[in-house]
Parts: sequence; structure tokens; C-alpha cells
Amino acid sequence: MAQAVPFLGWKNLIGQYRDVGAPLIDMKYIVVTGGVLSGLGKGITASSIGLLLKRCGYKVTSVKIDPYLNIDAGTMNPIEHGEVYVLDDGGEVDLDLGNYERYLDVVLRRDHNITTGKVYQSVIEKERKGEFLGKTVQIIPHITNEIKRRIRQVGMDDGADITLVELGGTIGDIESAPYVEAVRQLRSEEGRDNLMIFHTTLVPVMGVVGEQKTKPTQHSVKELMAAGVHPDSIVCRCEEPLVDDVRAKISMFCDIKPEAVLSAHDVGDVYQVPLLLHSQNVTTFVQETLGLEIKEPDLATWEKFVEKNQNLKTEVNIALVGKYSQLKDSYLSHLKALHHAGVEVGVKPNVIWVDTPELKDENFDEKLAKMLDDIKASDAVLVPGGFGIRGIEGKKLALKYARENDVPALGICLGLQVMAIEYAWNVMGLEGASSSEFDDDSPHPVVDLLPEQRGVEDKGATMRLGAQPTLIKEGTMAFDLYGSTEISERHRHRFEINPEYIDKFEAAGFMFSGRSPDGIKMEIAELGDHPFYMGVQYHPEFKSRPSRPAPLFLGLVRAAAKYHAERE
Ligand code: GLN
Repeated sequence: MAQAVPFLGWKNLIGQYRDVGAPLIDMKYIVVTGGVLSGLGKGITASSIGLLLKRCGYKVTSVKIDPYLNIDAGTMNPIEHGEVYVLDDGGEVDLDLGNYERYLDVVLRRDHNITTGKVYQSVIEKERKGEFLGKTVQIIPHITNEIKRRIRQVGMDDGADITLVELGGTIGDIESAPYVEAVRQLRSEEGRDNLMIFHTTLVPVMGVVGEQKTKPTQHSVKELMAAGVHPDSIVCRCEEPLVDDVRAKISMFCDIKPEAVLSAHDVGDVYQVPLLLHSQNVTTFVQETLGLEIKEPDLATWEKFVEKNQNLKTEVNIALVGKYSQLKDSYLSHLKALHHAGVEVGVKPNVIWVDTPELKDENFDEKLAKMLDDIKASDAVLVPGGFGIRGIEGKKLALKYARENDVPALGICLGLQVMAIEYAWNVMGLEGASSSEFDDDSPHPVVDLLPEQRGVEDKGATMRLGAQPTLIKEGTMAFDLYGSTEISERHRHRFEINPEYIDKFEAAGFMFSGRSPDGIKMEIAELGDHPFYMGVQYHPEFKSRPSRPAPLFLGLVRAAAKYHAERE
């Protein structure tokens, strides 16, 4: 599979409608669309199918399409859209790419996230260069060609046997229409046995003992078919397993084989979804439809993870001290990383969402007392990344409490910066210590703008982004956790520990156990006389995998479990 074959033969006849721009490879595509409403778990469906095929030995990659006009997720507010997920190559992308990285255990690039912004930008750039030779530039074929080109390109770059494509949004949305058309064209060009379509829908139940309703599914399939796209399978989201009658009805009305109507009913945790789909023969069905050799997936490690996950007895409370707690998806990768670590340690991390008071709040003292009660009820404190001054005072006080009372604490990015500010102020006696992000006039700017960011106007485009190496000092907690002196982690920041204060920090016991290879940028800090008090300038949460938790989260959860046991 995945060998280059010359771009010749009948495919040439399609001429201008088929601007591939590169030789075709023998590749299969699986497209997942969604109907009825958003949030049906298209991403989980696509990643689960991908996981099953990967475990059969196929090379699988994935593309997430977001039909919004933003070029990427970098400028999006986490409260509206969930966390901004960061890739090795510095791409700031939709959080669904995190699902794919975690399920498929792959490293994706920014090209794996196609947005309408990116598609239009490249078509308009080509138009300006005169590359369309005087033609009228239109949605069909120019935009649809660009969509197809991008999908194919990702598959080719990855040498994939199978490229999964998740089409964000809901069928029928105006902004999804060019993508549905591109999928229709892609299938007609690649051939029906090279591209399959899974359509996810909702099967609701009306009333307490009501029946499962198929009408929403029928309507959304009709809509898809009106666009010329006939799905191969329908994945029905429902509370209880789909009953046979309903399956038969959907099969008949939507012209889908009964065995291709899948029940994606509620299960205890999302990690069971691949097993649920596999138990309905989806793996064989895909291989048959795509003309692949029929293989059985090796699900041993996945099943072991699911089993361990279901048997977590002890709960440990982790206080998450952040400012975007209205939308839990703002911290999705943190939650996943805590969970992966919990399964490894054998405890269930229970997140306590802690609201931080503001100094200017009327009832500051009351709010502060409530925050400290939450922290006291917790077995560990996690201060995640963030931007801006809001919530900083509360974070400082939460960290001070953790530091003075031996409560395990992990500070990530802004979390590390606040750890440094709190330590400088309260231990080193540097009154007024702050970050130049919040206080231009601080007498002790212990956190300062990265030198390469000075004078830069375009904040979004120039953050220090993506994978960067860190060298770790032997004999430190960081070394114990990573078991290596050289690591690579993902970054997204503009400020750093001010190099002028490094020696002062270390002399006062705030030790930097990880630095950039040139020794200038502080990447990991830890306190020697505390059970677990660590801060990192990077984002370890993005590289955590179900069976390979991020070392720092493992350290935090282990320390939390110990603290919990000692308190009992
Ligand atoms: N606002 C801080 C900075 O830009 C921290 C960023 C973050 O937490 N991702 O450096």
C-alpha cells in the first residue's frame, strides 16, 4: 500500500476539475460526517475506527476539517472553543487533533487541520499570482480542488494506507457545503471502493419509556444524499443500545445495510468506544468495503487500559486553579493527562474546579477563604497555562498554600511563572515581583518578555511555539521522572523567567532542573525540600497518551495519591 503510482490514465481526462498537483498514491479514505446536531462524537467515532485499523497493522493518519474562517485556532477564546491544541510543528489547532494524537499515537502537523481560512487564503494567493490563467475563480472547482488537494497531500506526506477525514460542523450548514461537495468529488475520482463515509446522527427517545426515534436520522441522511453523498454506514448516538426494529427501519429508509447501522450508545468511558464498534464488526466491514485484506486488530493493550480504568477505586482530588473553568474543554488535554496518569497509578483523579478571587472583588476575603477550603480539600494543585492578569492573585495564594503545606503542585507555563513570582515575593523578599505581562513598572520583573518577542506587534503569530528541546540535570526530580537528560516538549508562550534573576532564584532554593540547550531559557523548576513542587515553561499535557502518561502528570498524581494515603 501507499506506493506512488504515476498520475496517468483515465484520471487525466477529468482535466481542470482534478488539480491534484502530485502523483496519486494507492490510498483509502474514511470520511466521518455529522448530522442533526453538533457534539455527537464524530471525533471519537473517527479516532476509534482509526485505532481499530491501526491495530490491524495499517498506517493511519487523520485530517480534521473546521469549516470556520479562522486560519487556525491560535486566536480563539478557549471559553468559546475549548483549548488551543499545540502540535510539534507549532501548529495551533482544534482540540480534536489531540484526540487523534492520543488514540492513534501519532504526531500530527498543522496541515492536518484544514480550515476554510487556510483554503481560501491559498486559493486567493494563487489567484493574485495569476495561476488560474485568467479563469473565473469559483467555489467549484477551485475551492473544492484545494480541499481535495490538501486532504490528499496529508495522506501522501504521511505515506498512509488510510486517511481519516473528520468533517466538522453539521450537514446542511452553509459553511460545510463546499466540503461535502469536495468529498463527493473525491469519492467519484478515487472510486467507491477507496472512500467510505460514516455519518453520525442522533437517535433520541421521547418520554420516559418512549421509543427510539429515527426521523432526525432520516432527515439528515436525506440531506446528505441530496448533496450526492450516500453514506456507507450510520453511527447512531443513543442513550441505550439501538433496538433491532429501529436498526431495520434506519437501514430501510436510508438504504444502508442493517449491519452498517451502528449503535454508539452511552458507555462508561470514551475508551470503550473502539471496543463497542469492534463488537459490531466495524473492522471487518471497513476492510471488506475498501477491498483490504481482512485482519483482526490486536487490542490487548487497549483492553488492558480500559479494564484498569474501570477498576479505579481510590479517588484523589486535584484542584485545578484556572480561569476558564466555565467550559471544561478549555483544559481538555490537562484532564486527559491526569486521567492517563491516574490509570497508571491506579487512582481516579477527581478535578475540583477552583475559582480564583480578584483583589478588586468586593468580597475578596470570603472568596479567598472558599478557594483555600477547596485547596485544603485537595490532594494536589494544578495551575495550568493562561494569558493576562485575571486570576493571578488567587493563583499566587493557592501556590503559596501548597508550597508551605507540602501539598503536591504542578505549574504549567503561566503556572510556572506564577510559582516564580510567588517565591520571589514571599521567600526571596522581592516585594512587588511580577511579570511584565501584567505589570510594566514592577521593581522586580522576575518574568519578562522573551528577547525575540521585544518590539513585536503581531502577538499571535510570533509566540514561541511547538516542540523545543530541554536538557535536564541529573539527580533532580525532573530527571527521575523523565529518565533522560534530553527531552522535547511543546511550547506556547511569550514570557519567560527573566535570565537576570536565575542565579538569585537558585541561591534561594528555587532550582532550575531543565534548561534550553543554550542554557538561557528556564524550562523546569523544582523545590528540593518539598515532596512535589514543580513548574514547567512548556505544556507536557499535549504529549500524554493513554498507556504512556506524561512524566510530570504521573509525578503529580503519584504524589497526590501518597498525600491522600498519608492524610487518611
Ligand atoms: N502568558 C504567558 C506567556 O505568554 C503564559 C502562556 C501560557 O501559559 N501558555 O508566557
